[in-house]
Formats: sequence, C-alpha cells, structure tokens
Amino acid sequence: LLAAVSVIVVKKWDISDPGVRQPIETRVADLLSRMSLADKIGQMTQAERKAADPTTVTELRLGSVLSGGGSAPTPNTPQAWVDMINDLQRAALATPLKIPLIYGVDAVHGHNNVHGATVFPHNVGLGASRDPALVESVYRATAAELRATGIGWDFAPCLCVSRDERWGRAFESFGEDPALVTRLGGAAVDGLEKNGVVATVKHFAGDGHTGYGTGDHGYAIDQGVTLTNRADFARIDLSPYVAAVTAHGARSVMPSFSRVDWTEDGPGNPIPMHANRELLTGYLKGSLGFGGFVITDWEGVQQLPSTDPAGTPKPTPSQVRTGVNAGIDMFMEPNTAPVLQQNLTAEVTAGRVPMSRIDDAVRRILTVKFELGLFENPYVTLGPVGTPEHRTLAREAVAKSQVLLKNAGDTLPLAADRKIYVAGRSADDIGNQAGGWTMDWQGANGDIIPGTTVLEAIRATAPDVTFSADASTPVGAADVGVVVVGETPYAEWFGDVGGPVLTYGTPEQREPKSLTLQPEDRKVVTKVCAAVPRCVVLLISGRPQVLTAGQLGSIDALVASWLPGSEGDGVADVLFGRTPFTGKLSMSWPGTVTQVPINVGDKTYKPLFPYGWGLHTTTPTSTARAAAMARAEAGTAPPGWQTLFADAEVALDNNDPTRADALFRQITTTR
Ligand code: BGC
Repeated sequence: LLAAVSVIVVKKWDISDPGVRQPIETRVADLLSRMSLADKIGQMTQAERKAADPTTVTELRLGSVLSGGGSAPTPNTPQAWVDMINDLQRAALATPLKIPLIYGVDAVHGHNNVHGATVFPHNVGLGASRDPALVESVYRATAAELRATGIGWDFAPCLCVSRDERWGRAFESFGEDPALVTRLGGAAVDGLEKNGVVATVKHFAGDGHTGYGTGDHGYAIDQGVTLTNRADFARIDLSPYVAAVTAHGARSVMPSFSRVDWTEDGPGNPIPMHANRELLTGYLKGSLGFGGFVITDWEGVQQLPSTDPAGTPKPTPSQVRTGVNAGIDMFMEPNTAPVLQQNLTAEVTAGRVPMSRIDDAVRRILTVKFELGLFENPYVTLGPVGTPEHRTLAREAVAKSQVLLKNAGDTLPLAADRKIYVAGRSADDIGNQAGGWTMDWQGANGDIIPGTTVLEAIRATAPDVTFSADASTPVGAADVGVVVVGETPYAEWFGDVGGPVLTYGTPEQREPKSLTLQPEDRKVVTKVCAAVPRCVVLLISGRPQVLTAGQLGSIDALVASWLPGSEGDGVADVLFGRTPFTGKLSMSWPGTVTQVPINVGDKTYKPLFPYGWGLHTTTPTSTARAAAMARAEAGTAPPGWQTLFADAEVALDNNDPTRADALFRQITTTR
C-alpha cells in the first residue's frame, strides 16, 4: 500500500506539477519557458461557456471561461455547475501543457446565478449600512458559495462611485462618496480575496461619473464619457482603486466601457479606458504596482476605434493591438475567441505587439492560477450553497440596509397586533426584490429564487394581514397600510429619466426606467394612503425615487428598502422593531427630477434628503446628529443645512467623528 501511495504522489509531482515546492515565481518562469505562442495566447483568452464546449476549450487552449449574466447550466443546480466546470477543466488539462482554466462569474450580490444560493442586498443597500465588517462578511459568504461550486474568480466588487442616478448601474455602487466606496469596496475585496476567490475591481475607472447625453446612444450615460480633470478623477474615481489594489490585494481589474476626456488636455478627445495606456500601464501597473491581471469587459476592445478596413471581423487587429499594448492581459471575447486569437497571433508575429508584453500578461495570469492552487486541485466537489448561516447573515444585511426617510407620528415600528393591509406589486415579488444580475443578466420579476418576500415576512409576524397587489380588494378597517412599490429589475440600463424602451424582454423589462413612480404604483399609493389611518411606503429600487409633494404628504412612514435580495425577513425585522433602523443614504435623494445629478459637495445642494440621512428608531450614537435631524424634521433647520449634514456624513466616512459632530452642531446652533 505504501508503495502504491508513493507511486501516485511521485507521479503527480513529476508529471503534472513541474516545479512544485518551488516558489510560484519559479514555477511560472519554468512553465512560461515551455509555452508556445499558441499556449500563451490561449491563456489570454476568455470565452463564454455557451461558446466553449470541452472540445473548444482544448482546441483554443482557453485560459478562462465565464458565465456572463446568468448563463447557468440546465438544470440550474449547484451540482450542475460543478459538473460543468469539472468537464471544462478536464478539457483544459487535455492541452499539451495541462494548464488549468480559471472560471469567472458575476457574483455581485451573492452567488446570484445559481438557483438556491443566498442573494444579498445589492451594493447600494450595503452602502446604507456603513458597516465594513458586515460587507466583508457578505463577500466572505459569497466567496464560500462560489468555492462550493468550483469558482475562484468573481467579477466584483464594483468600485463605481455613482455620481448620477440616471446611470442604470447606480445600484451596483456603494454610494456617491469616494471615501465610502473606498472603505466598503476594500472590505468587499477582503471578503473575497481572504477566502480563496480572486476579486475583480471594476469598472476602472469613472464608470459612475459619465455625463448625461455623452454615450453612443445619445441619451445614454452608461458607457459614456467622463469629462473631468486628472485631479478630480483621482479624487473621485480612482481613489477606491488605490486601497483595493495596494492594501486589500485585489488580483484583477476590469476596465470600464466608458471613456475619459481630460479637460486640461483640451476636451473633445475622450480616451476609451480599454485603450488607456496612461491609466492601465502607467498608473495601475506602474504607480500602484498592481501585480494581478487586467481582464477586458465583455467584448471591450471591440468598442475601440479600428484602423482596419470596414467590415473586418471584430475584434480587429488594430483593436486587439491597441488593447494589449495599453495593458490588457486577458480578453473577454465571449463568442469571438477564434478571431481574437488569430489577430493577436498575427500582431505578435508582425512585431507590432512585443513578445515581452505577451509574456508579462501570461506571467500575471499564471501567477494567479498558481496562487489559487488550481494546478494542485483543478477539480472540485460540491459544497454547501444557500446555507442557513448565510441566509441569517443576509437577513441581518437587509435590516441594516433599510433607510427610514420619514416617520411622522412614530408610525414605525409597527405593533404586530395591528390590522395590516399590504399592497403594491413588489410586496410579494422576490424577483423585484432581488433586482438585476439575479438568475439572469437583467433579472426578472416573479418567483425566480427561493427565499422570503416582504409579504411572507410580514405574515410571519402579524396575524391579521390582508394582501392585494393592486389594492383592488377593499382596504376595510385596516389600522395601517404597507405599500411596496418601486423599480422592476434591470442591468446595465441606459438609465434615462424619460426611458428608452427595450424592444425585447418581458413587459416589466420593457417598462421605461424613470426616476418617478410608474402609473400603477402611483395609483396604489394614492388609494391605500387615502384609506388608512397610517400609511407606510417601502420603495424597492436600485436608486432614489422622486416623489411628488402630494405623495410625500400622504405617506406617514417612508422607507428606502433598496434591492434586498432573497431575505425579506430583514425588512420585517425593522418594520416591527426587532432590529432598529440604522441605515443611512449612500446617495443624495433628489426632490425633483431636474435636480439630478445631485451630489454631496455640489455648490447648490438642496436635496429632499441629504447624503447620510436616515432616522433611527433607537437613540443613535451621536447626540449632535440626532439633534440636527430633529431640527430638519421639524422644518426649523437653517438654510444650507443639507450641505452641513452631508459634509458631516462625509467626515464620518473619513473616520472623523469630531469634525462630523462640529458640523452637525452648526445645524442646531445656527438660527
Ligand atoms: C458588464 C460587466 C460584467 C461582464 C461579464 C459586462 O457587460 O459590464 O460588469 O462583469 O459583462 O458578465
């Protein structure tokens, strides 16, 4: 037996693990020295799993496969994910040098592509918690569920600093203050990186800061242009990356689809981030010393200007060349991997892409693969997903993300023995509750994941609950109405206020994504709030929603619930006072659509609710803050109080409670 064991061990170390026990650097150098150009370019290629069956993986020597938005195996079970990834891994290990592949997914609020996984609140809600330890735990749990299905690479977290809520990805942002994004983004990176999963900080940089009307769609701001100077860009957009890369050890970076236009260079020359050598190579890899690898966004280089004849299949040779020479290490070419490989090979052979650049890219990728232990343990056995522990954590995260915006007459918390009338189309819709990037790229309304809806959670607490989504049944003698309305799911939306309408998808997906309530939501709010003594409105949305004065006046208690995910129980916890409300706005809440964009630091700053606003149902830690809020609620705060308040909250983000309290006190002492 002993002999048999040693034979196995020796065989493994001799053949499939050259250089094992050597430092990773040595192993990488050894492997690199034995790689052909085809091997190297294979490592730099990532394809989508639908275009990458095992045969393709072997033939193209693919370094990586991804599941883009959703893209789950059928049936979508954790076991099917494990089987799929092991099959692809077997194919990767059938290549001449047996280099394992790395699988990547967008687990942006839990392992959101896998049915049965825990779905956490989106980052906008986590931002409201102001709690780095909580955020680290959420991403640690995500890492555990990723590893349980054999995935060691996450295209998260988004370090976007959302400066315009018309941006259709605002919900992926921790907030509008770079200091907050830096703190919570760093915690998210820790949660992944300390637990065996490579984090991808994205979208580098300025994705949340593009101008309205600057995108290729004309009206769009997603994938648009950030018009700024270098100093502001460094302060607002780049700062979260500094800590993420240098202090928290994020090992991959994804450039943004957007472009940056430097005002000091004379505006009008926006540089695509995928071609931005100054920032990718000079700043990120040079100044910050980033040692991981840069992965493009989805067909990212295909958006670069091309100097090849019109009609040349994308990515064209010039697009590939520009990208790789700017500093891209791996290309996400979901369906066009063969074109990429052909063109990259030709560019290298012609000497227009130096071999040193290719070797640098491959070295970076292989280093991460060795660090992950993929060479020793390429295969995976299924582990637990959607565990009770993770669901309990998600419930806590939901409760901590709820922001109590208004609470006239101490309407909340509710007593469980009240007669409650629940209405609104998001009250019993877990798909709406989860938002985009859930099971599918765009998410979907309806019963798409296991978990608890807000209605189910209310019913589990209060015995006397009537429910009518459209408020068509009589409101009767209810003591209190709870109306749950807001946005239906979307991802990477243009984010227009008026709303470009999609030509595909379900009716809910085609609905214009405006910042005001949809007609059917308005009807339900009006009807229920007119009929009950106390009216509570919960907004399920990825960003602030603009309410009319009439709507606001009719609502006694208003809660920003964001996109809480699978555990509606967390919402009920704060509604019924089992957990206090402690959440604070991570984005300024506009009073009108024309105020947008509105951010802390603006010269004129008069939001309906300033950055950091959030009532507490138990005494908050700072009495200065509580006193300031009391004055603001009473309508007796001095003009400009919103600026003082938001600045105080920014001081808190920067760990300066003394300065914060001084600012809060100015609100109470100014006459
Ligand atoms: C998104 C990225 C995402 C990628 C892969 C892109 O469209 O912009 O955030 O990581 O798809 O799904």
